[in-house]
Amino acid sequence: SASPAVPTYLGHEVGKLATLANYLGRAQAAQTALAQTLPVGMAAVDDQDRVWFCNLLATEWLGLHLGDGLTPALVPAWIDAAAWQQTRQNILRKPTVLCLEQQRGAVWLEIQIQSLGLADRPSPLMPPVRQGFLLLIEDITSRKTVELQLRSQNQGLTAEMQQQAKRLERSHLDLQREILERQQVQAELAHQALYDSLTGLPNRYHFMRQLNTWLIQAQGRLQFAVLFLDCDRFKLVNDSLGHLIGDELLKAIAKRLRNCVATTDLVARFGGDEFTILLSIQTPETAVQVVQRIRKRLQQPFFIQDHQLYTGCSIGIVVNSPQYGQAEEMLRDADTAMYRAKREGSGHALFQLEMHLAAHQSLQLETDLREALARGQFTVHYQPIFDIKTQQIRGFEALLRWHHPVHGCIPPDQFIPIAEETGLILPIGEWVLQEACRQLRTWQQQRQLLPNTFMSVNLSMQQFNQADLLRQIDGVLQSSHLGSQYLKLEITESAIMTNSDAAVQVIQDLKDRGIRLGIDDFGTGYSSLSYLHCFPIDVLKIDRSFVHHMANGHKHLSLVQAINTLATHFDMTVIAEGIETRTQLQLLDSMDCPMGQGYFFSPPADPATLESQFLALN
Ligand code: C2E
Ligand code: CA
Ligand code: CA
Repeated sequence: SASPAVPTYLGHEVGKLATLANYLGRAQAAQTALAQTLPVGMAAVDDQDRVWFCNLLATEWLGLHLGDGLTPALVPAWIDAAAWQQTRQNILRKPTVLCLEQQRGAVWLEIQIQSLGLADRPSPLMPPVRQGFLLLIEDITSRKTVELQLRSQNQGLTAEMQQQAKRLERSHLDLQREILERQQVQAELAHQALYDSLTGLPNRYHFMRQLNTWLIQAQGRLQFAVLFLDCDRFKLVNDSLGHLIGDELLKAIAKRLRNCVATTDLVARFGGDEFTILLSIQTPETAVQVVQRIRKRLQQPFFIQDHQLYTGCSIGIVVNSPQYGQAEEMLRDADTAMYRAKREGSGHALFQLEMHLAAHQSLQLETDLREALARGQFTVHYQPIFDIKTQQIRGFEALLRWHHPVHGCIPPDQFIPIAEETGLILPIGEWVLQEACRQLRTWQQQRQLLPNTFMSVNLSMQQFNQADLLRQIDGVLQSSHLGSQYLKLEITESAIMTNSDAAVQVIQDLKDRGIRLGIDDFGTGYSSLSYLHCFPIDVLKIDRSFVHHMANGHKHLSLVQAINTLATHFDMTVIAEGIETRTQLQLLDSMDCPMGQGYFFSPPADPATLESQFLALN
């Protein structure tokens, strides 16, 4: 029985404990009593979910009140109902201990649930239940807090690490991409450094490197040749048809060259219209055979954008020998041989030692040319131009002569290209113009000429493109007192075609002054008559190669005839160049060609000779 000093609730508790002791046995009851003092909540639940025992802590934590004693469905109220049902089922099926964690406000509780086998224990205090559950509840807030902190720290850490890893991965990818790009750029640069972008052939640098390697490997034994190839009419194509077509032509030439040699030979674009070839050979004759094959291939027409183009080439050949230690030396000699081939019109030339001398001389020539004007080494010769029907002199062509103190008279074909390359042609050309105008004026004053006899002066492309050409001509005409209607200028087709917009203006300005204009060497360029007709041109000079072949073949004859007919139709007059025989003269006469010049009438000569031979008689 309970003592009055004991509070009712304790009495109640003690009573319950006593009952529990009956169920669990004394030892367990003692432990249970002890449990009241332990920091553990404890509750017993019957199989109807009714709480029939609950210690102080459990009361507090579960939010029970004493009177709640056997409140049904209590447990599901604070343990998730579905989870509780599941737990119950599990425990009832197989006695075991289950652990749940529950958060109640700021407090975390761990609830251990185990089954109590009550079935066979008779209890006067308890409703007749067969089974129940014991709940042990522990406050795990501090453990949980630490755990959560750790977890969140952990999570923070992993998130941080994941990001870090991602960053690393990203930068790794970036790096790889960059490396790839750089490799591509490097490969491209390497390719650009070694290959020509237009033709795809190895470039000059590549070629020279390879040549040096071959030189080292050959060790003096004859093994290879260097070919230096220059396209004969390329500039003409470029100037008259434009760079796009020029580029296409170069590509086509490159392709043909590649097809002419073995894959182990090296074909390079050396620059502009120059190609070089490293050729394995057994004997020098093998090289010549290959060269002949190349020339034959390149002579066949190219079809580029509706144009049928022809380009010959000149090839210099040099075979390796112990005297060559450097690529540059072999190349210099191949170049020299090429120039020889070009000059002689032979198409190809094998380098021989005496060519060195000639190359050296040409360099010397340039030096001498710089002095020639100041030293008065130039004179002008005049070739009369005749009326073919009347055989009277209608005009003169001024042709420059250089009297070299050592080499004597040097033909213009040899020094005019040098003068053009060096720009010396500008002062020299102005001098010729001055001299020729002065000479015609003198003859006019001496009354040795028929009225309207003209003076024809050759103008190089550079002169024609000179900004102050007109001012220069005005000055010359003024100082020589020659009427502008007596002056004719001879330019080449390419001079007009190259810069045709500017050319139109210059030609118009010349026209306004009454100066007449002729196209020199007509027929050797690529311009068409119908195009030339757009320019106010007065004279076509039929190139002497046509006149020369006229008697041999019907083709040339009808060509000259066609040019003459068309020119007349377009109000131009025609001068046939290079008339050497009576037959040629008669043929020209039969087709009503108005004028001509050539050795048949007279070679170019100095004024005194002309005066004694022609002018006095005129
Ligand atoms: P070009 O303007 O075609 O001059 C005609 C050339 O043919 C001249 O050569 C002349 O001597 C040559 N010739 C004349 N009749 C005959 C003939 O019946 N048969 C043969 N085979 N040839 C004949 P040249 O005097 O040696 O001049 C060569 C070239 O040099 C000229 O060709 C011209 O392009 C250039 N040239 C000459 N003088 C000057 C000049 O003062 N200024 C410029 N820019 N060029 C000039
Ligand atoms: Ca001429
Ligand atoms: Ca000519």
